[in-house]
Amino acid sequence: MSPTLPADSIFQALSAAADYDPNYLPVERARALVRELVRPVADEEQLFIRTALGRVLSRDVISPMDVPPHDNSAMDGYALRHAELAPEGETRMRIAGIAYAGRPYTGSVAAGECVRIMTGAVMPAGLDTVAVQERVKLDGDVAVIPAVAKAGQNRRRAGEDLRAGAPALTAGKLLRPADVGLLASLGIVEVKVKRRLRVAVLSTGDELASLGSAAAAGQIYDSNRYTLDAMLRRLGCEVLDFGVARDRPDDLEAAFSSAARAADAVITSGGVSVGEADFVRELMARLGEVAFWKIAMKPGRPMAFGRIGDAMLFGLPGNPVAVMITFYVFVRDALLSMMGQHPLPEQPMLRLPCSVALRKNPGRSEYQRGVMYRENGGWKVRPTGGQGSGILRSMSEANCLIVLEHERGNVEPGDEVSVMVMEGLV
Ligand code: AMP
Ligand code: MG
Repeated sequence: MSPTLPADSIFQALSAAADYDPNYLPVERARALVRELVRPVADEEQLFIRTALGRVLSRDVISPMDVPPHDNSAMDGYALRHAELAPEGETRMRIAGIAYAGRPYTGSVAAGECVRIMTGAVMPAGLDTVAVQERVKLDGDVAVIPAVAKAGQNRRRAGEDLRAGAPALTAGKLLRPADVGLLASLGIVEVKVKRRLRVAVLSTGDELASLGSAAAAGQIYDSNRYTLDAMLRRLGCEVLDFGVARDRPDDLEAAFSSAARAADAVITSGGVSVGEADFVRELMARLGEVAFWKIAMKPGRPMAFGRIGDAMLFGLPGNPVAVMITFYVFVRDALLSMMGQHPLPEQPMLRLPCSVALRKNPGRSEYQRGVMYRENGGWKVRPTGGQGSGILRSMSEANCLIVLEHERGNVEPGDEVSVMVMEGLV
């Protein structure tokens, strides 16, 4: 697919993909389509670097200075002129003074003299090399220094990490603790970041009771809205809670329309499979441009993706486990893209031996809830007990997903499988 898709029509874009088959979409194909069809938010704001943690830079940050700002010592030792050392054997040098980190030695250093120097201290003018203190013997105010192979040893050059005028961090970077520290090290107080993404969350179903109200006979508590809210907050999104919409067209329409007006993205759960009481599909298709995908995956087969007004729509299945897995597999990347992150980091996959046999038919991707554990000094993975897509406890027990790729068949005990670590996904 070309990068210059007609952005004004999702359906046009979807059908432009030659191999688009809405009834049987491989996971990787669906992921690629989602990634291509979302756009980053344009609005930016200026934030104090502490507050900017987890936000995405909207501009390059140019270093205002050299890092380190001056030549300095990498070790505790003795700063000297390398040319004055005997090529072999020891050289005796008088100690002219001491250079501390933050308190430079400003006196002169005569020929044949050295300066005691601490890690991080500015190199005294004219000196180029540091002999480490462990190898130097003292004789009164004279240091007895062994031969040093190369000039410049244990000296860090000004600008060696970063030059003034060079980009220290580039637009699209999601700020982590190291980045906040780096910004501070440059004396930068505020940065321009993308505004927070606003994401509306909406549950559908007559059977759902909200927390705080008693579940009547035949009702279950709505859990998806809370799982989604938690995942979204960890991603750094602003969550707009649109509650539960009943399976009635007027109720659903009102909820969908107002959610789409208020948010950059709307995430619904339930009502996307073909069923009697599921008006959601019909309504989504009427209100916006929405494709209904039967994805070749388990769990999470039915999913809707598209747009209502200016908001991207993710219609996730109703089953609680399927909600989480479709979120990890499709929604997370899309939201990170909309937040402005680029390039999108590839989610690392481990390869671990699976301790038990797993049944798997080629032709769809499967995501099993897994537990990574240590045994005899090595790591292994096993599936959690119940794997039903309604069993949220399996998700809670799991610390990883076992990813059985599209073409993969059965797994025998000891076979390696792909494993996605869950911590860090959100
Ligand atoms: P649906 O896709 O609407 O047919 O829902 C599939 C299954 O997921 C049904 O068992 C629903 O009761 C359940 N389900 C749907 N939405 C939620 C929700 N918000 N919280 C918990 N379970 C749900
Ligand atoms: Mg339903």
